[in-house]
Amino acid sequence: MARRKIIAGNWKMNKTPSEAVALVNELKPLVANEDVDVVFCVPAIDIIPAMIAAKDSNICIGAENMYFEESGAYTGEISPNMLVDAGVKYVVLGHSERREYFAETDETVNKKVLKAFEHGITPIICCGETLTQRKQGIYLDWIRMQIKIAFQNVTADQAKTAVIAYEPIWAIGTGETATSDQAEEVCGAIRACIAEVYDEATAEAIRIQYGGSVNAGNAAELFAKPDIDGGLVGGASLKADFGKIVNYNK
Ligand code: PEP
Repeated sequence: MARRKIIAGNWKMNKTPSEAVALVNELKPLVANEDVDVVFCVPAIDIIPAMIAAKDSNICIGAENMYFEESGAYTGEISPNMLVDAGVKYVVLGHSERREYFAETDETVNKKVLKAFEHGITPIICCGETLTQRKQGIYLDWIRMQIKIAFQNVTADQAKTAVIAYEPIWAIGTGETATSDQAEEVCGAIRACIAEVYDEATAEAIRIQYGGSVNAGNAAELFAKPDIDGGLVGGASLKADFGKIVNYNK
């Protein structure tokens, strides 16, 4: 069975609530594509206004992070219950910016992944190597380790519904995209790793995105690769270009 493509925007720390509403309204007619799941992952404060603006469209609103506890003395954090109550279906976990600036580790990513599944939220689990790791030739080992830790204690049924985003750190926000062959090599290796940890059926079902300077000019070639099931898009998700990325197949 062919996997359905999933193209998600990661707004990062951009857009006030009123700007978020304006952007959703601008993009709404541009991102209609019945072949693709379309997700806008937005700052926590924008979730509710974006959700209201996206009503009656194909846009699903997601979060950019989530804590792994239910509630309590964790000032500044957002709980899974809060996301569920707001109607959130997807959450980005383990983005390299969270790992670099906010001390996210493979272990905290795993705790968050388990919590997201417990609450019926689909995690978009990020992994990826630095340029040094690529040059050292250890990138596939590194990514396999990230995946194996992120999926600890995750059942096969849960894993089948997960989304993995392969995002080489050297390609995020740099304008330097991995070639489609480089991206396919790693996405294929991730799928093989899932088959090794679980089974072929789980590997066939799980969706693997590529992220890293995806734009309207390179999306079609990347998404045509057999193991690339869509993209996680940063900068280009904040502009009308996102409509062209979502409609890469038209
Ligand atoms: C990202 O934020 O996940 C990302 C891939 O950013 P960009 O598309 O800007 O490289």
